[in-house]
Amino acid sequence: MHVDLAGVVLRAVDYKESDRILTLLTDRLGLLTVKAQGCRRKNSPLAAAAQLLAYSNFTLFAYRDHYSVKEAAPQEQFLGLRADLDKLSLASYFAEVAQCVGVEGESNGELLSLLLNSLYALDKLQKPAELIHAAFDLRCMVVAGYAPLLDACAGCGTGAPEAPRLDFQEGVLLCSDCGEPSPGRSAPLTPEMLAAARHIVYGDPKRLFSFTLPPGQLAPFAALASTYLTTQLERGFKTLDFYRGLGAPPGAG
Ligand SMILES: [Zn+2]
Repeated sequence: MHVDLAGVVLRAVDYKESDRILTLLTDRLGLLTVKAQGCRRKNSPLAAAAQLLAYSNFTLFAYRDHYSVKEAAPQEQFLGLRADLDKLSLASYFAEVAQCVGVEGESNGELLSLLLNSLYALDKLQKPAELIHAAFDLRCMVVAGYAPLLDACAGCGTGAPEAPRLDFQEGVLLCSDCGEPSPGRSAPLTPEMLAAARHIVYGDPKRLFSFTLPPGQLAPFAALASTYLTTQLERGFKTLDFYRGLGAPPGAG
């Protein structure tokens, strides 16, 4: 039986002499593991599509629960990411997160769009990497069902909270009058950061990266967004540790 779908490679593991096992995020079947036979041979027609982060239209051959790639037509290879270690490592983190929150066997269209738009932004748009990082992390939490409540203070309900903090565990805003969450469990938001967070969480996904922050606020905002993500998902990411280990200066990109 043949299955046609579009998907991006989140993980690629070499297998046997010339094969590769791919973890795809697909439009129709969510996360899917497929075998790309012979893709590491010279001149294999599957070589380009079997690379990490490549986005392709696939024709798969399905036998019981096993899928193998019959044909693949690459749509976007994000070549600009492969030439830049900082960008490639951040993109690899996006892929690892997508693998964590993606679901097998059902359409993950919103997650796939977010991932592709974020890879495209990192590759092509002249935006700071930290801005794309923050937008991906917060929006990913919305898509995965862990959206923070940012419209008002969770204690008193004011929509314009004084000195607001984001509580990472509860996913809510708290103003300075409504309790001081224990240190490490929350972080302060400037008015500009709150506006940016609301733009990401409540705004049109098509305009996801259309916000700015004063230079000094971008790095703390990205740190807040990724702490929120790792707190909500209750895990860390090797690719994120690696990216941070590169010591990318705040706002680089
Ligand atoms: Zn309050």
